[in-house]
Amino acid sequence: MISYIEAIPAFSDNYIWVLRKNDSVVVVDPGDPEAVESYLEKKNLKLEAILITHHHYDHTGGIMKLNEKWNPEVYGPKGGHIQGIKRELSEKSIIKILDTEFVIFETPGHTLDHIAYYSKDINSLFCGDTLFSGGCGRLFEGTPLQMFNSLNKFSCLPSETKVFCTHEYTLNNLKFALEVEPDNLVLKNYYKEVNTLRESNKISLPSSIDLENKINPFLRTSVDRIKENAENYTKQANLDPVEVLAAIREWKDNF
Ligand code: ZN
Ligand code: FE
Repeated sequence: MISYIEAIPAFSDNYIWVLRKNDSVVVVDPGDPEAVESYLEKKNLKLEAILITHHHYDHTGGIMKLNEKWNPEVYGPKGGHIQGIKRELSEKSIIKILDTEFVIFETPGHTLDHIAYYSKDINSLFCGDTLFSGGCGRLFEGTPLQMFNSLNKFSCLPSETKVFCTHEYTLNNLKFALEVEPDNLVLKNYYKEVNTLRESNKISLPSSIDLENKINPFLRTSVDRIKENAENYTKQANLDPVEVLAAIREWKDNF
């Protein structure tokens, strides 16, 4: 089974997650092939598989180069639109890599093809750009309702599930979350904690489902205070939870 997970930083704020069993690894969303290559070389590891969450280039840019060198199994969303994918996945697909089982969720919203990988074996969720700590992905292709349903799939997972997102957006997300829900104590404490981590350039991830359910406004659209603030922002009354999500997503886009 996978026994070790580590992040390779890439570009300005991406993380390429490396899942390791002995000297074999799987990488998630290898946007930058050089970053992966130098990591593998330094640690003398071999690449067995690639997991892709969606079609954006900062997540897929390394597939072809890594394919050439390692010929790994390459999993990703169905549709044939991402070059180099060898096994297309959809809702409830189950895959086994490095003796570890993953179930696939379709999570449209940020993009329409977005999928996430959840493993009960290792209590871990790889959610790409759908869920961030304290936030969620921008709605480039999907609707607020799609994003709402996608996030719901995550918030129902066991609370101890570790959340591996693909970007270091946490601190900015938490600044916004505090605007939306200023009296949330858990959020205030988490903000302080992440602020300290980021001051010394340390990673803020993984998060957990338990923590996200307590602090992430995009998972908390039924909370009265968040609903009221969304209504103030849109100057509309009686917003339902999906409309609250739409409102705070737009608010965040302009924050
Ligand atoms: Zn993206
Ligand atoms: Fe991204």
